[in-house]
Amino acid sequence: MAHAVIALGGNVGDVRATFQKAIANICGMTQGALLARSSDYATPPWGEVAQERFVNACIEIDTSLDPHALLFTLQKIETKFGRDRAKERRWGPRTLDLDLIAYDDVSVQKPELTLPHPRLFERAFVLVPLAEISPDRVISGRSVTAALAGLSTEGIERLPGPV
Ligand code: AMP
Repeated sequence: MAHAVIALGGNVGDVRATFQKAIANICGMTQGALLARSSDYATPPWGEVAQERFVNACIEIDTSLDPHALLFTLQKIETKFGRDRAKERRWGPRTLDLDLIAYDDVSVQKPELTLPHPRLFERAFVLVPLAEISPDRVISGRSVTAALAGLSTEGIERLPGPV
């Protein structure tokens, strides 16, 4: 089994309910076991700022899928929950975005799959939930908690449970 970190985000519909269903799908469809799930966080929109704020969370799973098969499965789950890549704008509103943040210590440099996720260390909306469930994690030689200390977390708010 491999260990994978997945970031969830969305700002259309009942995102927290979508997360619950998506996480159940992730575990079922990736032959995975849920190891940890962060709280949900309300976060300011990124890139295109004139839109609803996002909800973000992170999970850790054990999976028997290889990285490409895992990403393919995550994309199927995004589509199942209403995401239509053909219609959306980069950084625009979306029902569900699933990013593969890390997969064991695997490094991949391909356009369709880059691991660890190339923008991980720029994104407080990923690092805040990840630091909650895995504060001691080191990815590409960088500590999640130390990387987060260098970013602004303004506007990021932990949402009350249950998650
Ligand atoms: P996004 O719109 O942020 O979901 O970007 C998805 C695109 O990035 C897809 O074409 C993926 O194949 C590609 N991609 C590359 N590396 C990753 C990764 N680590 N996690 C998710 N998508 C990735």
